Amino acid sequence: MTSANLPAPSPITPTVDFDRNGVQHGFLRLPYSRDDSAWGSVMIPIAVIRNGNGPTALLTGGNHGDEYEGPIALSDLARTLDPKDVNGTVIIIPAMNYPAFRAGTRTSPIDKGNMNRSFPGRPDGTVTQKIADYFTRELLPRADVVLDFHSGGKTLDFLPFAAAHILPDKAQEARGFDAVKAFSAPWSMRMLEIDAVGMYDTTVEELGKTFVTTELGGGGTASAETIRIAKRGVSNFLRHTGILSGDAELHETRWIDMPSADCFSFAEDAGMIETMADLGDRVIAGQVIARIYPIGRTGAAPAEIKARLSGILAARHFPGLVSAGDCAAVVAVLE
Ligand SMILES: [Zn+2]
Repeated sequence: MTSANLPAPSPITPTVDFDRNGVQHGFLRLPYSRDDSAWGSVMIPIAVIRNGNGPTALLTGGNHGDEYEGPIALSDLARTLDPKDVNGTVIIIPAMNYPAFRAGTRTSPIDKGNMNRSFPGRPDGTVTQKIADYFTRELLPRADVVLDFHSGGKTLDFLPFAAAHILPDKAQEARGFDAVKAFSAPWSMRMLEIDAVGMYDTTVEELGKTFVTTELGGGGTASAETIRIAKRGVSNFLRHTGILSGDAELHETRWIDMPSADCFSFAEDAGMIETMADLGDRVIAGQVIARIYPIGRTGAAPAEIKARLSGILAARHFPGLVSAGDCAAVVAVLE
């Protein structure tokens, strides 16, 4: 996709110069006229650390606003990365969907936009679509490698893993899995998306870029362990690309796979969820991995949620109450 195919210029103005050497902390300024600020803007924090003409890494968190490992690791990196250690350019946006991040919610409070369902975006669309469009049009063409941090947010909890997708271009796919290996999370995933349309991942991969994503915990918070994994992962990722010198600090990782939609179990009933397996536990096909109790009366039998594949429990619903249609559990297959 080139800018010639897109209908109008982006309304976003960066306060940083992507081609300047050194450290810059600034904003992507997106005009947003509203009741409390007639000529107001959304100010999305961005850092650019550049030294010479090596490769460019685009590092993002807060694609969903209630996921914290990425924003924490990237805020720390933006503050501490010394350009003399860099060969190339590191573009850091700790919170892509900054309005959602400010609100602590998955989607934007302005337009209810889910950033990861808003790509490739629109320059004349909603606030969320305008941010997505700026990535598609201005940031991704500059990038050689892209790392987008996710976690489970308030409603899911994951085993800590880095992931890349199975792709039609096998050379591109191999670059993705090599970068996942370098990230060196405790788990590494060959990922299947259940809902790929509109995802940042899809746009990045269609542009031929090497792409790594993560799921590093969840529940709307972050732990010391998952933050350590995120910080180590991002510096390993930059070493792997040659932007930082030295070898990636490899830790043992176990590869898991999501071969089909049978990985996912969805609640068919509302109620209170009883987890019967913890993250990382081995489960077998047909095993009851959760039960859902109706909460309005005693004496009623709980509905059972069964694993549809044998493997390990890779994700689970986080809050104690579920609704029909919620993703209750994800089983991944050990390689
Ligand atoms: Zn997410």
